[in-house]
Amino acid sequence: MRTSQYLLATLKETPANAEVISHQLMLRAGLVRNLASGLYTWLPTGLKVLRKVEKIVREEMERAGAIEALMPVVQPADLWEESGRWDEYGPELLRINDRHQRPFVLGPTHEEVITKLVSNEISSYKQLPLNVFQVQTKFRDEIRPRFGVMRGREFLMKDAYSFHLEQECLEQTYQKMFDAYCRIFERLGLDYRPVIADTGSIGGDASHEFHVLAESGEDDIAFSDNSDFAANIEKAEALAPTGPRTEANQELTKVATPGVKSIEEVAAFLKVDAKATVKTLMVLAPEDENGQQAVVALVLRGDHQLNEIKAEKLDQLAAPLTFASEEQIQAAINCQVGSIGPVSLPLKVIVDRSAAHLSDFVCGANEDGYHYTGANWDRDAKDYSVEDIRNVVEGDPSPCGQGNIIIKRGIEVGHIFQLGKKYADAMNCGVLTESGKHQTLTMGCYGIGVSRIVAAAIEQNHDKYGIKWPAAIAPFQAAIVPMNMAKSARVKETAEALYQQLQQAGIEVLFDDRKERPGVMFADHELIGTPLLLVIGERNLDNQQIEVKNRITGEKSLLAINEVLSLFN
Ligand code: ATP
Ligand code: MG
Ligand code: MG
Ligand code: MG
Repeated sequence: MRTSQYLLATLKETPANAEVISHQLMLRAGLVRNLASGLYTWLPTGLKVLRKVEKIVREEMERAGAIEALMPVVQPADLWEESGRWDEYGPELLRINDRHQRPFVLGPTHEEVITKLVSNEISSYKQLPLNVFQVQTKFRDEIRPRFGVMRGREFLMKDAYSFHLEQECLEQTYQKMFDAYCRIFERLGLDYRPVIADTGSIGGDASHEFHVLAESGEDDIAFSDNSDFAANIEKAEALAPTGPRTEANQELTKVATPGVKSIEEVAAFLKVDAKATVKTLMVLAPEDENGQQAVVALVLRGDHQLNEIKAEKLDQLAAPLTFASEEQIQAAINCQVGSIGPVSLPLKVIVDRSAAHLSDFVCGANEDGYHYTGANWDRDAKDYSVEDIRNVVEGDPSPCGQGNIIIKRGIEVGHIFQLGKKYADAMNCGVLTESGKHQTLTMGCYGIGVSRIVAAAIEQNHDKYGIKWPAAIAPFQAAIVPMNMAKSARVKETAEALYQQLQQAGIEVLFDDRKERPGVMFADHELIGTPLLLVIGERNLDNQQIEVKNRITGEKSLLAINEVLSLFN
């Protein structure tokens, strides 16, 4: 690739409105451009990275026995009615009508489509188990698209769905997927952790998330400092607009009247840093005329979100703000989401990480009977209850019995579930067993945020000059950077010859043939994060040498021109 024929699209200035470093660098390095809220065009350099991530994911899925298919983005609404999610899913589901006024959705996920397919195609136990995956665009009408492709509305996901006759078989496939995910994130060169996850609104019996550790992560991960216990303790979705959560949020809007507090005032009152990391804000309304007490949770994370919440919610909170008593918290736990009604002011506010578990209640999630196992699904036999996990606080003994809890931020890049029979039951997906009886199938589902991984990788791998790609996903393996090519025929010839040679050897190389000053060229390649810069200059050519600059280590060394290929062995 020659830069003169390429769309480099690098930017000198840090774009406004890009809050996290990966978003800034993705714009500056010319990886993506914003089209509208949560919608991004992948420019050529970004697409190269995206495809590399996709390739690793695909190879490991296939190695683990999954087979690839491709399902439509647009899905008929009746499938969602059949599964019950037409009503459950809430405003993240974008609903559209065709010209005949028939309702469709843009697929946020594909359980319905695959379950329908399998119920049509599979009739005998002999065809099981089956694990089908795709790499497909998803659309979720996120309430707060942000951080660039990290939380887009349109994004690329690898999703897989497995079908089984028996739970035991599901567990085997689940373990295979768990292991495949570990290999994927290792090959990607990322610092990641599998963590025990909440099964949330999808429902089901067991679930793990895979998190890339980074300060900008939206979730809180509790680790033991002396075992591999790790769990997602942050109820990240307390504000997600699904089901009863949405109603709760709408009700908050209804019951509260304006009593504006600035972020600083609220933060000072609550004795938290206005740039606080993650806090759960419980809003307790007093009893209504029927003696019912209402409760609504807001989750504040990071300064930006605090500001967003200020705009959307905090303005609606009324004074005086006071901490709730233990009794009030207990009363809140005992009340029903459905009971939120026309209650009067004042609202009471508490901020307490240890109250995070309340937000589930507020979300209407039914956690009864859920059990979690250790981070290694198979090998760690110990089970933890939801309460064991939710209530952990930094410094506490780990629920696993070994070590103490430390809390770090994580970016959710993968999520695996044992779904059980929820979809198969609703959509009548079953087979004839060996004894000729009809049996409903049990399912697993396995997601990876392919496009989010690109951003997460940058969060973990950058410096003040730009991106430092892990080798496996760098858009180019090397760049040829000739010094003052316009003035030196010798430099030009050498650069051209080296370009031909590397191309023929199958090396992904970017030949910077622009008439730019060396400083401009170096700045661009450092920004893009090309791992090796092959610098060709008059002086070194006297000795038949070029200079090799390593983006990761910063090392510079001289190399004989005829030995350049050895760099790529
Ligand atoms: P989050 O908690 O970040 O909203 P999720 O739990 O809703 O994610 P899943 O339904 O588990 O997401 O989807 C599987 C994967 O898809 C996630 O682990 C994540 O990597 C990715 N993903 C989900 N939502 C988005 C989004 N809006 N933009 C980019 N990637 C996403
Ligand atoms: Mg989500
Ligand atoms: Mg999540
Ligand atoms: Mg998830």
